[in-house]
Amino acid sequence: HRRVVLVRRPPGEPAESDFRVEEAPVPEPRHGEVLVKVHYLSLDPYQRGRMRDAASYAAAVGLGEVMTGGTVGEVVASQHPDFKVGDIVEDRLGWQEYAIGGGPALRKVDPSLAPISTANGVLGMPGMTAYFGLLHVGQPKPGETVVVSAASGAVGQVVGQIAKIMGCRTVGIAGGAKKCAFVKDELGFDACIDYKAEKDLDAALRAACPNGPDVYFDNVGGEITDAVLRNINFFGRVALCGSISQYNATGASMGPRLLGTFVGKRVMARGFIVTDFAQHYGPAMRQMGEWIRSGQLKYREDIVEGIDKAPRAFIGLLRGENFGKMLVKLA
Ligand code: NDP
Repeated sequence: HRRVVLVRRPPGEPAESDFRVEEAPVPEPRHGEVLVKVHYLSLDPYQRGRMRDAASYAAAVGLGEVMTGGTVGEVVASQHPDFKVGDIVEDRLGWQEYAIGGGPALRKVDPSLAPISTANGVLGMPGMTAYFGLLHVGQPKPGETVVVSAASGAVGQVVGQIAKIMGCRTVGIAGGAKKCAFVKDELGFDACIDYKAEKDLDAALRAACPNGPDVYFDNVGGEITDAVLRNINFFGRVALCGSISQYNATGASMGPRLLGTFVGKRVMARGFIVTDFAQHYGPAMRQMGEWIRSGQLKYREDIVEGIDKAPRAFIGLLRGENFGKMLVKLA
């Protein structure tokens, strides 16, 4: 079977040559383990951080090691009392076609609820990020205005739809007319700002948010975030989810000094990692499943086929070339 290993740590934007696709023998499960045939790999921005050998909330991938990542697959051999051949499972097994599972992250996926790919998306890590980041950190109230960046992406598309369900005015920020049209016309956001076309983001935000933003769900950092923070309301809340605009940066850029506005406006900003809420995933997944079945929560996936396509697709994700949750479908 094939797998993708990390062979070099790029200082800036990754290249395909930072990865190597290699052949390896299919492993055999031992007591308490399962052998999983992987159907989908999840490509996620945090994987850029795992390529760096720097202090982080999670360990780096070693050189020569399989790239880390979420997976959905099928149990094809089992020595585990709770899993049988044919079970669909989600785990973080990395970029490989077959893998051994059995750790604490291994969980069964019910294929009758939704397509199994959603266990890496709306009904998985990105969906939980949106749910808890918005509801627990952002704390939106009906009638308030919620702004979310990377609005068409895996996390952003869910944030905006939950904000609508909560009765908020919902404004997305995304790159390009197609992504903005999708966010407004298909997902029902009230407005979407195309930051690539818009010359004056502050003016665009004032127009899209007549009452000002009360909650900002930040996926991108950088100049987009500076603009939202300049416009945020008194007692605003900022859910700091990610800063993808900075992930390939080799040094911190000098932005305007905005924290003074937090003082005068009594703004609360809080960073979070989705796993902080792991104990509460069960009810949240059930709620998200109900919203999907009732048609209130839609999702868009962007799927490429073949494990050898993973490096290129990952580089594209960091450039905004994906349109929806980025997945690699394996043979
Ligand atoms: P997406 O599906 O949103 O894909 C990434 C998107 O980011 C791109 O499509 C692009 O959209 C946008 N982007 C890329 N570069 C830039 C840039 N320079 N400036 C502005 N936007 C850019 O990814 P996810 O939904 O998986 O992740 C979104 C964010 O959430 C990331 O920051 C990620 O790290 C974070 N995250 C945090 C978690 C946590 O626990 N805190 C868990 C999961 C995700 P566009 O074309 O619109 O620019």
